[in-house]
Amino acid sequence: MSSSASGALLRRIDLRGATPGSLDYRAVVPRADFDVEAAVPAVHAITEAVRERGVEAILELGARFDGVELDDIRVPEGATQRALAELDPAIRAGLDESIARLRKTSAAELEADVVTDLGPGARVTHRKVAVDRVGLYVPGGLAPLVSSVLMNVVPAQVAGVGSIALASPPQKEFGGSVHPTILAACALLGVDEVYAVGGAQAVAMFAYGTGPCRKVDLVTGPGNIYVVTAKRLLRGLVGIDSEAGPTEIAILADDSADPAFVAADLISQAEHDPLAAAVLVTPSTTLADDVEAELEKQIGATKHIERIRTALTGEQSGVVLVDDLEQGVAVVDAYAAEHLEIQTVDAAAWAARVRNAGAIFVGGFAPVSLGDYCAGSNHVLPTGGCACHSSGLSVRAFTKSVHVVEYDRQGLDDVADHVVTLAEAEDLPGHGAAVKVRFS
Ligand code: NAD
Repeated sequence: MSSSASGALLRRIDLRGATPGSLDYRAVVPRADFDVEAAVPAVHAITEAVRERGVEAILELGARFDGVELDDIRVPEGATQRALAELDPAIRAGLDESIARLRKTSAAELEADVVTDLGPGARVTHRKVAVDRVGLYVPGGLAPLVSSVLMNVVPAQVAGVGSIALASPPQKEFGGSVHPTILAACALLGVDEVYAVGGAQAVAMFAYGTGPCRKVDLVTGPGNIYVVTAKRLLRGLVGIDSEAGPTEIAILADDSADPAFVAADLISQAEHDPLAAAVLVTPSTTLADDVEAELEKQIGATKHIERIRTALTGEQSGVVLVDDLEQGVAVVDAYAAEHLEIQTVDAAAWAARVRNAGAIFVGGFAPVSLGDYCAGSNHVLPTGGCACHSSGLSVRAFTKSVHVVEYDRQGLDDVADHVVTLAEAEDLPGHGAAVKVRFS
C-alpha cells in the first residue's frame, strides 16, 4: 500500500479501491510518532519537581533544557514596553493588523446568554461567564512564535478574562529573557505578567501556582511534546484548551490545483518542526508528480532545509492516492488534520462536507500561512487526530456557562408531582419531600 519513488520526498500511500467499510482510514493515514504516553514519565518528573521545589526547580530546568542561568522567572516590569519601543515598525504593522482581525472575529463569536421560558414562572438561563485567570503558553524552542501571543491573548481578552499570565521559553541569546518580539506583542496587548519559563515546567507553574505566579484556572496554547504531555497530565487540576502539538497540514487537491501552491504550502508547515506532518490527498497522479517536482525545486530556496526535509520524508508525511474526491473527503475526515486545505473545483462545496479538521482553508488563495498570522481565524488548533473531538482556540475556550434556574410557586407547582414521582422512583424520598414541604 505504501511506496516511495526513488529519491521522492513524499512516500505514497495508495488507497485506490479501498472503502471505509473495507479499511479503517484512520489506521493507514500518515501520523507522527508523537507518543504522549511514552513522554509521561519524563514529564511527570518535571511537574513533580515544580510542585515540590517551586521556583528552584524551574530555574534548574531552564538551565538544563534552555541553557540559561537565571535567578528569577518573572520578566521585570518595563521590559515589555522597552521591547515595544524597539520593535521594527513593519512587524508592528503586521501585529496590529492581525490583532484587529482577531478582535473582530472574536467579538462576533462571543455567545449571548440563552434564556428559555418553560411556562408561567419557570425560566432557565444559560449564562456565559469568562474564566477568572488564565496561563497562556507561547512556544519559543525552534522559533519564537510571536503570533501565538495574539492567538492566545486576543480571544481571552474579548471573552472578558480578568487576569492573564503568559509564559515562553527563556532565550539564551537574549540573556535568558523571553524573545523581545514576544515581549513587544505582550506590551501591544497590555499583558505585563510574563514568565521566562518553557516546556512542561511552564504548564506546571501555571497549574500549581509557583513563586510569583498565582495558580490559574485554565492553560491554553500550543507546544511540543513536553507541553502537550504536561497539559494532559495536569488536566483537571487546571482546564486546558486542546492538545495542540506539532503542526499538520493536509491538502485535498485535484487536477485544478496549482502544484506550486500545493508544494509551497506543504513546505510552509514542514518548516515548523521535524515532526510536522505534510499530507497531500489526491485522485490525480499527475498532480502528485508535479507537486513532487515542485517540492524539489522549492526546497533548495528555504532557510530551514534540514528541518523541512526531515518532516517531509518522515512517516508522518506523504501523498495519499484516492479514487476520487468522494473518497478523498472520507480520508481527510478520518485523518482530522489540524489544518486542511481544499484546492479543488467547487472547493467550498467539498469543504462543507468535511466534519473533522482544526481549521479548513478553502480555495487556492487561502494558504495555511494566512491563518498562521492574519486571517482572523485562530492558529492554536488540535493535532494528532484530536480535531474529531476538540476545537481550536476561540473566545469559547475562555468562557464557561452556568445554568441559572428561576421558578416561582406557580412554576414549581406545575411540575411538583413529576419531581415527587421521579424522586420515589430513585428511592430518594427526601428529594420529593423538599418539594412537598413548600405546598403543605
Ligand atoms: P516549545 O516552546 O513548545 O518547547 C520548548 C521547551 O521544551 C523548552 O523551553 C524546554 O523547556 C522544553 N524541552 C526541550 N527539550 C526537552 C527535554 N529533552 N525534556 C524536557 N523538556 C524539554 O517550542 P518548540 O519545541 O519549538 O515546539 C513548538 C511546537 O508547537 C512545534 O511542534 C509547532 O509545530 C507547534 N505549534 C503547534 C500549533 C498548534 O496549534 N497545534 C501552533 C503553533 C505551533
